[in-house]
Amino acid sequence: MEITRRNLLKTAAVAGAVAAVADVAEAREGRRAAPDEVGMLYDSTLCVGCRACQTACKVANGLPPDARDASGGEYDAPLDLNATTKNIIKLATDGPASTYMKMQCMHCVDPACVSVCMAGALHKVAGGIVAYNPRTCVGCRYCQIGCPFNVPKFEWSKSLPVVEDPKIVKCELCRHRQEGPACCEVCPRGAVIYGKRTALLAEARRRIAAQPGKYFEDRAYGEVDGGGTSVLYLSPAGVSFQALGLPTLPREPLPQLSETVQHTTYKWGLAPIALYAAVTAVQLRNRKADGAAKEEE
Ligand code: SF4
Ligand code: SF4
Ligand code: SF4
Repeated sequence: MEITRRNLLKTAAVAGAVAAVADVAEAREGRRAAPDEVGMLYDSTLCVGCRACQTACKVANGLPPDARDASGGEYDAPLDLNATTKNIIKLATDGPASTYMKMQCMHCVDPACVSVCMAGALHKVAGGIVAYNPRTCVGCRYCQIGCPFNVPKFEWSKSLPVVEDPKIVKCELCRHRQEGPACCEVCPRGAVIYGKRTALLAEARRRIAAQPGKYFEDRAYGEVDGGGTSVLYLSPAGVSFQALGLPTLPREPLPQLSETVQHTTYKWGLAPIALYAAVTAVQLRNRKADGAAKEEE
């Protein structure tokens, strides 16, 4: 059969229609937080940067101090999250204004790390906590690439030479402790508190309403950002969330887009098969029509 422009356009139109149908069929809904999910509220206006939470985190998780940047001393002085640091306090500046910033896993409502983890090593457990299972982790580090907050860290020191299986390290909201997060327990200022996500959101709104103009944008970061997070942030007026190191994200969870595309194209191979069948049917029909036209001639 001669490939004419008309045939090609017809084929493309059917292919488009099949892809559109598959899109509708496989569109991935964003996950919503359940009422019993827990999290933390960090109010940067209350934090004094004492780093008691950072130390308590290490103790509660059996992590050694990181003295690499301590000018030869033994003081625990990590500069960022790393394989022995699940929680970090940093100074954040925005022009003339400055404040403190606490960073750990955000326990996203619809986490990108869970979405990309092919081994199911990262997964949601009771309370919405994003947990990690080192026994199933294959060390691919896709979670590091997928996380929009740059949270998961890899134990490079164990990989070269291989001492033992290197793991991913990240906060699991102290799920091994009945008392809840150690960082919240020790904070002398109540700058970071633990509770149900819904209650924490209500508390954030109460603080904002009680002191108009005190907070940046009069909202808590994490309520909707990137589909929502279970760790929520209040920043002082004059210090943007971006200055705290929190990225600007759409309201839709990132996995909603990536999985819709992925599932549409590859789930069970149905979409490609349907596409191939449709293209073949159109070509056969065109061939028949071409034959009939030639007979008429
Ligand atoms: S912050 Fe990163 S590691 Fe933590 S749940 Fe979200 S995507 Fe996963
Ligand atoms: S919840 Fe636990 S692991 Fe997470 S930052 Fe706080 S102390 Fe560290
Ligand atoms: S313990 Fe509280 S006040 Fe001290 S650095 Fe941590 S969050 Fe800030």
